Amino acid sequence: MAKKAGDRISDALDHIKRAFAGRGSSTDGDKAKGATWDWLEEHQDVKGISGLISIGGFRGLFKDEGKTELRQYQRAYLLIERTLGGRSDADVRGLKTHLETATGKAALASAESVKTDIRSVYYKWADKQKKKETPQIFGEPILAPSFQYASSLHRTNLAPAVKRASQLLTQAWIGLARVKMDTTEKKRFEYYFAKPMTDVALTKVKDVLKAVHDVVCARRITLYYRGDKAPTTLAKNDTPKWLRDQGANALGPDDSYGFVYADVQRPGEYHVFLGKDFFADASRHGKDSMSGVIIHEMTHLLKNTDDHAYGEADAHALVTGPNKAQALENADNYEYFVESFQSKVTTKFG
Ligand SMILES: [Zn+2]
Repeated sequence: MAKKAGDRISDALDHIKRAFAGRGSSTDGDKAKGATWDWLEEHQDVKGISGLISIGGFRGLFKDEGKTELRQYQRAYLLIERTLGGRSDADVRGLKTHLETATGKAALASAESVKTDIRSVYYKWADKQKKKETPQIFGEPILAPSFQYASSLHRTNLAPAVKRASQLLTQAWIGLARVKMDTTEKKRFEYYFAKPMTDVALTKVKDVLKAVHDVVCARRITLYYRGDKAPTTLAKNDTPKWLRDQGANALGPDDSYGFVYADVQRPGEYHVFLGKDFFADASRHGKDSMSGVIIHEMTHLLKNTDDHAYGEADAHALVTGPNKAQALENADNYEYFVESFQSKVTTKFG
């Protein structure tokens, strides 16, 4: 007889908690169970989890009631991977196949290792949460030493520009979440990315903008001054040595809005170089803004976007052009899409 869907999940939740018995802090099990429960509450649109964690041979293989325990923990493991572990349905199916084929004596001996896996998924998730709780520091980019050569106005514009970028990205994220239920948002999406909207296109855009959103809203970006007063001598070059060692020799004024070295990166560091046009042309509000340039560069840095076309009209033209996929790869399409939310942000300059 098949177990009821709700029972299966509540059993799995209980076994997530039990996997911590005698391990870690006495409340970790409760926290892991609670966090998994919260995830399920918040993601009620995700269907079929109960079926997904249903693992074969539950009764047939283990007639001995004590041995059904292993399957309980395996279900708990699949559940926590799908939720806090951030694994996809396909990933979980793969894990399940792996667990199902590891039956027999080896599998029976492995309840302890399944429990260890459950705990490690939770602790990894908890670590990430801790990082997220660090105070909101957007609006406070790190200004590299070269900014001593910039005007004070140029310096003071940067924190509000990043703050505005974070607000724009937050609004864009809300807009993306509404694409399927709100015709205004659907039209906006179709104007900048793909007409008609497809799930593949939506997933791609969400992937890029989530990455940019998460960094701009919660991490510190290091900005470098490469405007017209930027020093031209190697002695005054503030490009980090490890970047220069990799061939990134950004020195002196640069004829661009900005640039990054997407191929040379260190985890957790975000280096964006701002060129002459940024300081001469980029506006504080509206389209082609300083915030937009930073967003544009971050899509290059984090998701390797290209520059197939510049300017809003040409970016839009990619959507109906001969190579439609380019709209999804083009940095300016992301910039203009995000900037189109400008009426919803409040940051004022000066
Ligand atoms: Zn670019």
